[in-house]
Amino acid sequence: MRVVPEIMPCRRGHVVVKEGEATCLPLCSRPTVPGVISERACAYYGARWVLAPIPDAVHLVHGPVGCAYYGRTVRRKNYRLFSTDLSERDIVFGAGEKLYRAILETCALVPGARAVLVYATCAVGIIGEDLPGICRSAAKVVGRPVVPVNAPGFCASNQAAGHDIAARLLLEHFIGNGGGEPVENGVNLLGEFDVQGDLGEIEALLGEMGLKVICAFSGRASIAAMAQAHRARLNIVHCRRTGHLLAEGMREKFGIPYVKVSFYGLEETAAALRAISRFYSLAIAGEVVARGLRAAREKARPFLARLRGKRVGLFFGGSRMGAMAKAFRELGMEVVLAGSQFGCREDYEEAGHKVADGTVLVDDAHDRELLEFVACSQPHLWVGGTKEKFLVQKLGVPFLVFPQESAPFAGFKGFVNLARQAAGLVSAPVWRLAAGGF
Ligand code: SF4
Repeated sequence: MRVVPEIMPCRRGHVVVKEGEATCLPLCSRPTVPGVISERACAYYGARWVLAPIPDAVHLVHGPVGCAYYGRTVRRKNYRLFSTDLSERDIVFGAGEKLYRAILETCALVPGARAVLVYATCAVGIIGEDLPGICRSAAKVVGRPVVPVNAPGFCASNQAAGHDIAARLLLEHFIGNGGGEPVENGVNLLGEFDVQGDLGEIEALLGEMGLKVICAFSGRASIAAMAQAHRARLNIVHCRRTGHLLAEGMREKFGIPYVKVSFYGLEETAAALRAISRFYSLAIAGEVVARGLRAAREKARPFLARLRGKRVGLFFGGSRMGAMAKAFRELGMEVVLAGSQFGCREDYEEAGHKVADGTVLVDDAHDRELLEFVACSQPHLWVGGTKEKFLVQKLGVPFLVFPQESAPFAGFKGFVNLARQAAGLVSAPVWRLAAGGF
């Protein structure tokens, strides 16, 4: 039985230990307990998470400069972002005119941009700025779509709401605007952000089966690519929290079916390729899977001895918990905790099926809880986002940042990278010197 630290009474339902298939799931999709140091991001940042990689749009944040600074770095990549830099005077008297001028100015600075995305922030939501009206007026002058992203930080309890707002916006304004017939071997990837080359790995595997990626939302989602996305025959959802609403919308609007898969881990990648090949009735998938598995197992073998039996804790965004837990189990590691900042019921159901009995499932853990989980479970490795990195490292525990920082983790080759990085971290001598290391 896993040792679980003492949990605040109002948080108790958010932490469960898996015991058999009938394990109840942690409470999720609830507001954070006021006063705790949550690891969550705001709805505005959720919208940035989805929209930031769109390369041929102007991204203009209507709000204090701090919001723009916060939204500039997404998945550790810096994007060009403009800000109206609201001050106290703007909050008191309104800043509609300032926004209008900023839209014209940014379009002059980036003449090749095909659209302008104007992000609302908390301050703008509170003063009730007429964002849609100002965007409409400016669009007539700049001659391209000026689209309000109405996701002020306070509009929901976590960043997932921003993902949904961004998805609706893409459906309404950009997806399927071009003409053209369906592309027989065309697919879209939804919820795939091309972190450190993940998209290239996935695309190569699909390419081996004769499939062509039309648009990847939003790792490779230019306005031109999105306009062609309706021509795909199948949508492949890689991340549920950022891709599901988009998939449902495209099914309703264009009749494109979708499959939810994961490309993290050997078994999940093989299952993904088999599911996609079933849709297209492709015989070649068996060969692609067999070849990929053989090569990955051989290359990962030298690292497995260092990982076997080691304990790992996982805490990051919702949808990848289950697949990553399975991937670490394939590496021979014991997953002691699988948690998420904003996972939904389906995410925890999936994770619950993929972890072993005794694994802790936790929703929206805060700083103090995470510290106590680390102390109780004594992991050899912790995996999560930048916010938790230093917290855990100070306890002398090696930390692997995910989404990853230096090489793709998706596909068969990505699994080998995961094995290499995990093995390097757990066996790095520095952790034996760190005070409190387990
Ligand atoms: S919570 Fe509000 S003020 Fe803070 S970054 Fe998000 S939008 Fe800006």
